[in-house]
Amino acid sequence: MATALKFAQPEERVSNFVSRTHKMLINGKWVEALSGKTFPTYNPATGEVLARVAEGDKADIDLAVKAARAAFETGPWSKLTASERGRLIWKIADLIEENLEEFAELETLDNGKPLKVARAADVPLAVDLFRYMAGWTTKIEGNTIPLSVPYTPGAKYLAYTLREPVGVVGQIIPWNFPLLMAAWKLGPALATGCTVVLKPAEQTPLSCLRLGELIQQAGIPDGVVNIVPGYGETAGAALAAHPGVDKIAFTGSTEVGKIILQAAAGNLKKVSLELGGKSPNVVLGDVDLDAAIAGSASAIFFNHGQCCCAGSRLYVENGIFDKVVEGVAARAEKIKVGSGMEASTDMGPLVSEEQLNRVCSYLESGLSEGAKAVTGGARQGDKGYFVKPTVLVNTNEKMKVVREEIFGPVVTVIPFKDTEDLVTQANNSVYGLAAGIWTRDIQKAHRLATQLRAGTVWINCYNIFDAALPFGGYKQSGWGREMGHDALEMYTEVKAVCAAL
Ligand code: ADP
Repeated sequence: MATALKFAQPEERVSNFVSRTHKMLINGKWVEALSGKTFPTYNPATGEVLARVAEGDKADIDLAVKAARAAFETGPWSKLTASERGRLIWKIADLIEENLEEFAELETLDNGKPLKVARAADVPLAVDLFRYMAGWTTKIEGNTIPLSVPYTPGAKYLAYTLREPVGVVGQIIPWNFPLLMAAWKLGPALATGCTVVLKPAEQTPLSCLRLGELIQQAGIPDGVVNIVPGYGETAGAALAAHPGVDKIAFTGSTEVGKIILQAAAGNLKKVSLELGGKSPNVVLGDVDLDAAIAGSASAIFFNHGQCCCAGSRLYVENGIFDKVVEGVAARAEKIKVGSGMEASTDMGPLVSEEQLNRVCSYLESGLSEGAKAVTGGARQGDKGYFVKPTVLVNTNEKMKVVREEIFGPVVTVIPFKDTEDLVTQANNSVYGLAAGIWTRDIQKAHRLATQLRAGTVWINCYNIFDAALPFGGYKQSGWGREMGHDALEMYTEVKAVCAAL
């Protein structure tokens, strides 16, 4: 498990893009921040500054919202047919696909994830999402509704509903899948005919800015997609509070989700939130052990555990507890941790120093309260933000490592005696984003799926995402759904039209 700090070189066009001082996209123009300020984005494998980016704040957000409003009300976008809109969105997908390698390298440099993961997951999923949403543009339909108005006997009406775009949408996204989160947000907004001000995470703005160039190249009219990089407390807060924004869509921590909700109250803008999780992943005694062990390791260690749906609480039935702990720990030890640019790397650095400190402080807190690290339990090396894949046992429900989202490669393995005990423990969380079930008993699996309070339940698999499958949380994991046709509801208003005949 040597840390590979040697840094394979990115393609020349990627280095050229990265080395620019990056501007923001407002009303079809690449502009500096009105304040003239820039902020650094870091390479998490080395801790060194990767690029400088225009630092948007309230004033830039205001300009971007005005541009989005004009594009929504009177711009060419508002006059396109649904089919024309669909073709433009499809074009964005084609352009991302043509530049797949460039996007994958940008994600690895800025976020730290292994290049092979960005190539296989982040970029193709973003392409697929845009294609899926392109197909919806011509299928956003209302209903005709038979009326029986009791106080107008004998009268006849034609009544129907229209689904109309909600308007100007503010979108605030996280750093764990920078391009993909932008796609999840932009796809349904564009499909429904909205216009957007998007704020990427300050840790990972680069792929989003490159996407902005391709959005222009695809022919999306000026002002429809505005991209304003900057910090959460300034640019993000200004977007969430802006009276000219009709809806805010946020993905990030539950803590910030609550702040967004309060900021949105000023003009009662619509809100959708995709927040944190502490997802239970359940292994029943009858299971195919090899598949369950491999799947449970991947459920937590994929993307370094920096997934809101990471299977971070692994519940194992009593009789097979030791075997599963041993198996998952053995897999953790085989994970090659190093720079994401190296072909052999399985797990890169965490995204930032802040995240490294956060994960390490959770580890210290768990260990000091009596948890035992079967493997891992600490930082790896002293350069870059690497953490050893960690398996904790001897935990209890009061510990922070069991209750709170760590957002790192740390799993707590917890025994249970029967299904009733399991359901009580698994549902004992403020979160309800995802859950996993591993068993050969189909009946038990589907019964458990109804008992677990989570927005997604994976049976004998984990982290399976598809543009058609809705994703979102119960309880404090969020409001509304991303992807699937459910996402479109969050971006449309329903208008009832009633005509006397
Ligand atoms: P994390 O703690 O994992 O970085 P956050 O929830 O803080 O997750 O960040 C997710 C996104 O929310 C980022 O784009 C960030 O800039 C933004 N953000 C952070 N704080 C605020 C805030 N007070 N208002 C609006 N956006 C914010």
